[in-house]
Amino acid sequence: MRALIIGGGIGGPATAMALLKAGIEPVVHEAYDAPADFTGSFLNTASNGLDALRAVDVDIAARADGFPIPHMELWSGTGKKLGEVENGVRPADGTVSVCVKRGLLQKVLREEAMSRGIAFHYGKRLESYHADPRGGVVATFADGTTATGDLLIGADGIHSRTRHILNPDAPAPTYTGLVGVGGYSRHPGLKPTTGTQHLIFGRKAFFGYLVRESGEIYWFANLDRPVEPTRAELAATDWKRHLAELFAGDQPFIREIIAGSTGPIGSYVVHDIPTSPVWHRGPAVLIGDAAHATSPSAGQGASMAFEDAIVLAKCLRDRPDVPAAFAAYERERRERVEKVVAYSRSLSDSKKAPGPVGRFFRDLMMPIFLKRSASAEAHAWMYRHRITWDSPVAA
Ligand SMILES: Cc1cc2nc3c(=O)[nH]c(=O)nc-3n(C[C@H](O)[C@H](O)[C@H](O)COP(=O)(O)OP(=O)(O)OC[C@H]3O[C@@H](n4cnc5c(N)ncnc54)[C@H](O)[C@@H]3O)c2cc1C
Repeated sequence: MRALIIGGGIGGPATAMALLKAGIEPVVHEAYDAPADFTGSFLNTASNGLDALRAVDVDIAARADGFPIPHMELWSGTGKKLGEVENGVRPADGTVSVCVKRGLLQKVLREEAMSRGIAFHYGKRLESYHADPRGGVVATFADGTTATGDLLIGADGIHSRTRHILNPDAPAPTYTGLVGVGGYSRHPGLKPTTGTQHLIFGRKAFFGYLVRESGEIYWFANLDRPVEPTRAELAATDWKRHLAELFAGDQPFIREIIAGSTGPIGSYVVHDIPTSPVWHRGPAVLIGDAAHATSPSAGQGASMAFEDAIVLAKCLRDRPDVPAAFAAYERERRERVEKVVAYSRSLSDSKKAPGPVGRFFRDLMMPIFLKRSASAEAHAWMYRHRITWDSPVAA
């Protein structure tokens, strides 16, 4: 059986490796003309995502310069400590969430997949596909070429072309009201924050940072923007100047970190997909952001794609035919991913800047709220989720 995978980002290569292990030939088709390994800033891979990747024997921490961030400290913009929380719930084996640069993660996954003999084709932007009357599927790319397979997997991200073809009525990604900005920096006055990420509720915007042992600082900001900006508006923004204004009323080191940025400052509009009614139809199925994009606040986007990859491969391995496998995959995944998307959206909402009165009550109540919600079991459903490769998928 041959599977056409559309998208060579994060979920595509993971799916390819899982399919190979299940005895299916994967072929990856990516829209970029060449590997784009330096796109995106950094992301969290949670213990559940790391566990999923173990099924295909990939260790992100060892291979993609991943480093553990078990701990988070929350602060007000004026420097008042609001509380401490664990970054996820540790499973019994003690696995801790790791932070990785997105581009490096993508590179490692691709190189690992290629080393196993999996083919990647670049410059292949999916335009359309149709079921072949003789069986299987034919995909047509923007360069006019075609590819044939027994099934097609849309791993083509939040603005998925596959999703649109599969269901032209699929809801568009929803704007969360936040803009994300981020980059890397250095600051001689800041010591390494080993194992800890600091999150700051500023007067007008939300800021996060960590300092590695090498002195490199990873930082991001979330800005409350009720009206969705265009890409052109984001690209035209002088971020250093704009963020300096936004954080003017907060601790000075925030502005110093931003001013000391060592490379480009990335910006993007934060979307999610709370629910997408159709995940599969005929020979095609969706995984990762194409099916259920989540805002980055819960740090679960990559992990959900990894879980999808492994579960889909298991379903194709164990169910008697492709329709039965796709139905089993949706049954195993839908409720969980939609719960994660909703949880992440609630975290995103808490980052929106309140007025002075709201700020007063937030700073007053947050320590109490954190003590209650930080109980070890509160989010165990998300972080301790395990997928056992060898256990069969039930009918
Ligand atoms: C450039 C970029 C930067 C990102 N930066 C961050 C970040 O800093 N922090 C964070 O938390 N998350 C980030 N994300 C999102 C995060 O990587 C995803 O949520 C997560 O990894 C889910 O992976 P996915 O494979 O479903 O989608 P993605 O990782 O988005 O991969 C989708 C892939 O499909 C390709 N593609 C799209 N359309 C087509 C088509 N028609 N034909 C063929 N290929 C197509 C894309 O080029 C891309 O390589 C970023 C995503 C991208 C694409």
